[in-house]
Amino acid sequence: MSLNPHKPKFDAFYWAIVEAAAAQSVATRHKVGALVVTPSGMMSSGWNGKPAGMDNACETTLVEDEDNPGKVRWKTDPAVLHAEVNAIMKMTREGVSTKGSILFVSRAPCFECAKALHGLGLKTVYYEEDHDDMRGVDLLRDTGTNVLKRTYGTMPLLPPTDPCKEPYNLAA
Ligand SMILES: [Zn+2]
Repeated sequence: MSLNPHKPKFDAFYWAIVEAAAAQSVATRHKVGALVVTPSGMMSSGWNGKPAGMDNACETTLVEDEDNPGKVRWKTDPAVLHAEVNAIMKMTREGVSTKGSILFVSRAPCFECAKALHGLGLKTVYYEEDHDDMRGVDLLRDTGTNVLKRTYGTMPLLPPTDPCKEPYNLAA
């Protein structure tokens, strides 16, 4: 019998990686992390950022803030690649199939990413936070990908203190 890497008991481990991946992003508006786990347990992580070789600034122009008239806000640079696409691109580069894989992503896939993801044969997409525009989730569901929102989510993903020094009480 072989290991089943898609057992729910591994979910906290995978979400911890997603959170750690998101922390790598230099974006200031949304730091998003993603993790793809193949049926054999190989993993590819990603976070939102510009293509390697470009400068790192994810927000480069100021635009009027629709929510605060008279104020401005930073706009995400159109060159920024989203977390889930970065994770998938690594697999593509190495020739690793996405078929039957599970994608964990901290923010629901946007419409553009959903178009890129829909035909990859993903078994399930789990997301944590809703997107302002949920058309991406609708597209994935309409085209046959199982998409689920993380539902047990109030527990912190990582211990707030160093677990080596201070045991973390999950029941607290
Ligand atoms: Zn996206």
